[in-house]
Amino acid sequence: MTAHDTPAASVLETIGETPLVELDAAPQSVPVYAKVETFNPGGSVKDRIGKHILQRLLERGEVSSGGTVVEPTAGNTGIGMAIAARQLDLQPVFVVPDGFSEEKERLMAALGAEVVNVSGEAGMSGATNRAREIAAQREDAVVPQQFATPLNAEAHYETTGQEILDALGEEIGAVVAGVGSGGTLMGIARAVSERVPGVRVVAVEPEGSTFGTLLGEAREEADYKTEGIGTHDPDVAELLDPDAIDEIVAVSDREAHAELNRLAAEEGHLVGSSAGAASVAARETAERIAEGDLDAPAETVVTVFPDSGERYLSKNIYGSFEAWEGKA
Ligand code: PMP
Repeated sequence: MTAHDTPAASVLETIGETPLVELDAAPQSVPVYAKVETFNPGGSVKDRIGKHILQRLLERGEVSSGGTVVEPTAGNTGIGMAIAARQLDLQPVFVVPDGFSEEKERLMAALGAEVVNVSGEAGMSGATNRAREIAAQREDAVVPQQFATPLNAEAHYETTGQEILDALGEEIGAVVAGVGSGGTLMGIARAVSERVPGVRVVAVEPEGSTFGTLLGEAREEADYKTEGIGTHDPDVAELLDPDAIDEIVAVSDREAHAELNRLAAEEGHLVGSSAGAASVAARETAERIAEGDLDAPAETVVTVFPDSGERYLSKNIYGSFEAWEGKA
């Protein structure tokens, strides 16, 4: 999005400065604000890290102009990184586990990337191993590794977090965000807690994911449909610091699906399932603050809507839960 009053020299200048929109369905005394990341040129929050990570890697000389970036990704990071890579004269190659949305792969290819599929069973760690193999075979190739590089959280510390502070000042009681790599939540939480000590930090995962075990909570591992957040191997998300998180909330696919459909029908937000899950958890957090069940330094909750529902039309995201689950 960014400024509309001056011409932009490149699509990279249009990344970030997304709107922060108040949700209608929140307690009156504790408003919930969502950072609507669908306004980025690649349609997701991941445009931010694509630009930031590649610019820094080039500055540091870890890859040079004309080189290759190889990244394991479920999709949105590939789209964001493809946009930045091509503008910065790098060749993008993405390793995608089977089972993620078809739209994302098509968009990565349209943006000039090479897409390599690996079996869904191997998960993100299988994709990471394959990415390293590919990089080893090419000259001047780098694997940014969004799950491990501090540049991922740094992108959100420097942009998303600061933008939220610019919009709300110190009036932030809780930050609630879905976690995949954890970059979004960790970066925002670090930025906000520097200005608002004691801000409540809430991670969101789908039911069936096991991040909760990092805080000693019982979790039953199971498949889930919610896309972009959660894990079956919490150690993969090296950026996620359990000491910086107050709570990890599990949201069921059914609740996330109902909420993203409600957000579309009632509030005009076309957002994906991870946004649905984040919205459920953010509204619950606001209710608990409003009822006095939760201590927070201010009566306001901030969350993030990472991507668009249009990205999942082929998965029947709009309509019955059974159709989305693949059981109708
Ligand atoms: N939602 C969606 C749709 C995503 O693609 C991702 C990234 N995998 C996230 C949420 C989570 O973001 P992060 O990796 O920063 O935790």
